[in-house]
Amino acid sequence: MPSRYNRHIGRDMTYPYDASPPDRQVAYIFDTNKCIECQTCTVACKTCWTSGKGQETIFWNNVETKPYGGYPIQWDLRLLEKLEPAEWNGDRLSTSTIFEIDGEKKPPLGHRPVVEDYAAPNLGEDDVSGNVSGGTAFGGIHPMWMFYLARICNHCVHPACLAACPRKAIYKRQEDGIVLVDQERCRGYQECVRACPYKKVFYNMVSRASEKCIGCFPRVENGMVALCVESCIGKIRMHGFLTTQAEPREDNPLDYIIKIRKLALPLYPQAGTGPNVYYIPPLHVPTGFLEQLFGPEVERSKKMYRELASDPKLLGALLLFGSTNRIIHRYEVQGEEAVGWDEHGEEVSRVPFQEPVYIREHYDRARSVYRHNTT
Ligand code: SF4
Ligand code: SF4
Ligand code: SF4
Repeated sequence: MPSRYNRHIGRDMTYPYDASPPDRQVAYIFDTNKCIECQTCTVACKTCWTSGKGQETIFWNNVETKPYGGYPIQWDLRLLEKLEPAEWNGDRLSTSTIFEIDGEKKPPLGHRPVVEDYAAPNLGEDDVSGNVSGGTAFGGIHPMWMFYLARICNHCVHPACLAACPRKAIYKRQEDGIVLVDQERCRGYQECVRACPYKKVFYNMVSRASEKCIGCFPRVENGMVALCVESCIGKIRMHGFLTTQAEPREDNPLDYIIKIRKLALPLYPQAGTGPNVYYIPPLHVPTGFLEQLFGPEVERSKKMYRELASDPKLLGALLLFGSTNRIIHRYEVQGEEAVGWDEHGEEVSRVPFQEPVYIREHYDRARSVYRHNTT
């Protein structure tokens, strides 16, 4: 059984598939502090990619409320029940990943949801962590909490779906690390559905094949960000590439935020798949809860986020979220502005640190009307 280094868990692990890393790795950053669960991302993906027969309950992008929401139902609780609670020695995982826990010869540890688990994508929406008694009002510090977790396929470094497929129908593209299911080769065994810890492969009962997020590869090939990223109302998302074959670059906003500053953290790194959607943890949620989701660096990440006002280089990278539909390859802070360039060196984004404020006269003399807030 080949062994390979997993940087998310700080050590080598066994992985039943031997492939060289891609030339560069597609990656995403989601700032959970800004998501409003409007589901625009969900609808954008659904209407473009999964509006066909058999895809009625397939959501490649979904947004769920934590602590109680989850789609398919309890996907993460079932994962945590099977995995022992994660224990870390510094940034090194002491417990086993899904590739190690059942012994090397077996497929990755997992479970296959039943059909009913896909029936209620918004179960638990807006539920808070405790009971709210009658007459409760906000008094400055709120003991209850919840937050919104947007989820897509992680285009993992060590994909469990790929490792589990007996038909070798799943592959990871060399040019960008996007993970795809070959619809011609797939015979619908659903071993990928069972193995993916994030439950981001879906079975289509009409085509009888498995399907998953395609990373919007036709857009990526043309230098554009994914649809779920471009459509995001809260501008919580950034989409680009991580450097894989050389040292991370300070002027690549994803390298800088993820690898150099480590502000954004992977979801359930203890599973061992090396996910490439990175989350900025919600400040108001107890760190103990978040550490099971995002690993041992949560408190450090929260501190960095709180101190952004005095960290212009990091703040500049975050200001570029949602500012363009082009993939930013290089960025720089120039005075009071953050500037981004695409792969061809063309400027595609320029965002001021301070938004200009325009004050309009309450009376429009040209039209002889008073202005209201809505006009
Ligand atoms: S569009 Fe953006 S803000 Fe709205 S739910 Fe999706 S990730 Fe959250
Ligand atoms: S998130 Fe799941 S479906 Fe996506 S690459 Fe990772 S293991 Fe495969
Ligand atoms: S990257 Fe594209 S295919 Fe994947 S969830 Fe987002 S919109 Fe859907």
